[in-house]
Order: sequence, then C-alpha cells, then structure tokens
Amino acid sequence: MSSVIRYLARYLVLPGGDVVEHGALDVCDDRIVAVHRSMNHHQIIRDRESLANVVDLGDVALTPGGVNAHSHAFQRDLRGRTEWLHPDREDEDFWSWREAMYALALGFDAPAFEEVTRRCFLEMLHAGITCVGEFHYIHHQQGGTPYPEPNELAHRVIRAAKDVGIRISLLRVAYHRAGHGKPALSEQRRFIAPDLERCLFWQQSLFDRVQGDPLVKVGVAPHSIRAVPFKWFEALSSWAKTHDAPFHTHACEQQGEIEQSLQEYGKRPMEVFDDAGVFECSPVFVHATHLSDRELELIETGGGSVCACPTTERNLGDGFLPATKLLERGVRISLGSDSHAEIDLWQEMRLVEYHERLQKERRNVLASRAIMQKFFGDTLERYDVARVLWPMSNINGAKDLGWQDLGELREGFLADFVTVDLSKPAMWNVDRESLLSHLVFASHPGLVRDVFVGGKKVL
Ligand SMILES: [Zn+2]
Repeated sequence: MSSVIRYLARYLVLPGGDVVEHGALDVCDDRIVAVHRSMNHHQIIRDRESLANVVDLGDVALTPGGVNAHSHAFQRDLRGRTEWLHPDREDEDFWSWREAMYALALGFDAPAFEEVTRRCFLEMLHAGITCVGEFHYIHHQQGGTPYPEPNELAHRVIRAAKDVGIRISLLRVAYHRAGHGKPALSEQRRFIAPDLERCLFWQQSLFDRVQGDPLVKVGVAPHSIRAVPFKWFEALSSWAKTHDAPFHTHACEQQGEIEQSLQEYGKRPMEVFDDAGVFECSPVFVHATHLSDRELELIETGGGSVCACPTTERNLGDGFLPATKLLERGVRISLGSDSHAEIDLWQEMRLVEYHERLQKERRNVLASRAIMQKFFGDTLERYDVARVLWPMSNINGAKDLGWQDLGELREGFLADFVTVDLSKPAMWNVDRESLLSHLVFASHPGLVRDVFVGGKKVL
C-alpha cells in the first residue's frame, strides 16, 4: 500500500556534515520520510512489507543535491570564447568581458535562448546540482520590444528547467539604466523595464503564474546599484517582503561599481541599501568581493547573506571574497557558478578556503576557533574546514532561494539527493572520517552517478 522507497548507501552525509556508514533514506513521493543512521539486514527484512521497494545504491556517498544559487544560464555559451587578448588591447577586465556578453545576449532568438538554457541546466544535473537560482535578465525581443507575453523568455527558462528535471527559483531581474544619469545602452535593450510600474506588473504576473508548481519559485532581483535607481530598491525589496520571495542583487563586485555609488549617493552600496530598507527582506548579495568594515557590519546586523561565485570571480578578475570576515560575523554564504566558466560546486566550495590560504599563507583558515564556535558551538572535537564549506553548496543556497525544506538529508525535507561514486580513482581509500573532506577537496562532476529531484530519478 505504502509507496515508501528505501535507499541504502555506503555513506550518507547528514546535516552538519556528519557522515554515517550503511545508513538509509526513506522517500515517499517527493519527501524524505525517514533517515536511518544505520541499517542492518534484519531491519530491511523486517520492514520489507511496509516498503514499496528497497534500492541498494552500493559503493556511493549519498548527499543532498547541490544548490547553485546564482546562474546566468545563457552565458554558458561564452565558455572558452573569451580567454584571449587582441594584440592591440592588452588590458582586459570585467568591463571588456561584458561587451562580449552583451553581443551574445543580443544574438539569441527565443528558441535558441531556451536551448542554451536547457543545455546549461542539464550540465548542472550532471554535476550533481538539483536546484538552480536563475538570475534572469534577458526579457525582450532582439530589437528591444517586449514579447506579446512580456515574460516569454522567463517562461522558457522555467520550461527548460522542467524539461531536464531541475528545481528552479527564477529570479526576475529589474534593469532600468546604464548608470547614474545614464539611460540604458542600446546593447542593454533586451533587459530594460521602462518604469517601475511595468516592472512590478511583470514581476507580479510571473509570480502568480507559477503558484502551485512544486518545482518552481519566483524571486526578484534588481540587477545592481548601477542598473536600478533608489526608489526601485525600496519598492522591489518591499515586494519581496510582502510576497515572502527571495531578493537577490549583484553587490560590491567591482571597484568601479563602488565608485559609481559614491558618485551618485556619496555612500557605499550597502549603506544605500540600508537607507532603501533592503535589509527588511533578508537580501542575498551576490559577490560582495569589495566590502568595507561598515558594510560587513550592516550585512551582519541586517541579516543579509552572501552568494559567492569564486570560479567566475577569478575568471573575471573581480577580487577575493572576504570569507573569514563574513564567517566570523556568522554571515551565511551560498555559492553560484554564475557565468559558468565551469560548473562544479565542489570547486566553488574549496576555492572559498583556498583563496584565503593563498592570501594569508596559512592552512585551514576557515576552521578557526572563532568561526567554528560561531557555527557549531562546543559540539566538535576536531575542526574540519569541510564542515564550514559543506552547507554553502546545499542548505545555504536552498535558504537563499526560498526553499526552507531543502538542502539536507532530513526527515520532512524535499527528496533532492545525489550519489557520488566511491569506486572511482579519485575516491580510492576514502573512509568515514575523511569522506566529507574528500568530497569538498577532491570531488568533481565526473563522480556523480545518480541524481534525484523531488524523489524522482532524473539522471
Ligand atoms: Zn551574476
């Protein structure tokens, strides 16, 4: 009668990074209904009558699915195509990369846009990512006129996600101008909302359309302090709060962006967000690579969180995430593959630590007593840096994307999980003690074997 399926695995990675051997996960429909920390043969036989099926996944680590909290799927097509210099122009940075990205953004018609998105999401599933936050900013036709259905491309993004089976939070981007006192550039014509009223109307209509879909949420994303005026930050954060929807914005990624903020407001971005009431809506700040001490304090006291994208930040030469300072203040960090120079959340995780090591010439920087006490109190005998990094790739991203019951193998949570093949060379000689560090420091997408979203096997 019951449709509970029991999955057995050599290891399970439980909340807090605890690893258990020969545990099991019971799944009914799209939920985890029980987590067994150990499971012997007798229990399986005893329970068999109440189970629809027992699946022994074998020599694998069963972990929560990865949550990729910041993606621009179409930028996947820039991969491998911007890693060169013209001999006459030897000064490449974010802003010149952006020109290539704009050219790409103008080229897609609707079906091509849907196809590149689908391909990107499929690669994510192969990399063990089961939920994506798509920061979606191409809205209009190639000439800049809205589609008859203004959310045409947003709906295509959602369709691409559903087609491959990945869970999605569509973060609909508000974009209005090139900068302070500067109207939108012609290259930005597909992104633009002409006024706040229409922006809110399109936002609301997309939000209303996805209600009731178990795999889809909609959030709001003013693109950046450059692209959106003050009043829009007030209105959009208030909208997010009223609708209990995620609010994301690019923040403090570039020195140039901070200079523009100082010019326009005489203040740094976080101070402007504070004035606009943005901290009322549990905002997620993407990048945050250039923060003053005052801004760190505002994020901490305002309950903001940070989505870091280290592989993209190093590809674009953005700068370093101030991970130690954020974690010492207890700020939650999630991860995104952003421009998709590569798609590998394990890599994103370990870079958060490795970038600190390279700058400080120390090891295990993020396992400091101050940070471990902040997140784990006195519960641990040993300070594994992997425990600090692990939630960044799953539960933290889930919270940032508005999924309160996702990102851990926990009773009552959504059944999004993956298996990592431990028979592969990269995992030879792994044991229970070292499993979490193996995953964080040595795993890669090629080790992912099975992928489940909402209890359904999608790979
Ligand atoms: Zn981005």
